Amino acid sequence: MLTYYCPRCWQIVDEKDKTCPHCGFSLEEFSNQEYHQKLLDALHHTIPERRLIAAQIIGNLKIQQAVPLLKEILANETEDYYFLRAILIALAKIDHAERMAIIENATHHPSSLVRSFAQQILQKIKNNEPIETWDKFSG
Ligand SMILES: [Zn+2]
Repeated sequence: MLTYYCPRCWQIVDEKDKTCPHCGFSLEEFSNQEYHQKLLDALHHTIPERRLIAAQIIGNLKIQQAVPLLKEILANETEDYYFLRAILIALAKIDHAERMAIIENATHHPSSLVRSFAQQILQKIKNNEPIETWDKFSG
């Protein structure tokens, strides 16, 4: 099940909403491509919660073009563990050629929490655990 967010105010909206019930933003005229770009931009949002939500949606939508940016964040961000964890889960969900190498790299991350979570994710991928059950890790 996917949760939909208004790309302007980031409140939860219904999939069928034509305009955002919170801020009135027209959801119909907003193309997927614009939405994906908004999500990528939101990975650098100053509010940690928004960065987290963006990472979760990127994973759920399996946005391939986000992978280089996710890789870059893993290489440079060291403080925000919950964000990094959401990034790792997103990477795990996106079927991309570099996916395993990036997650392997994260097992050498400066944060021991990130290292250990990257190990868990690798194990889950190798065991072929269904991706849907991983969401409980992001809570
Ligand atoms: Zn809105």
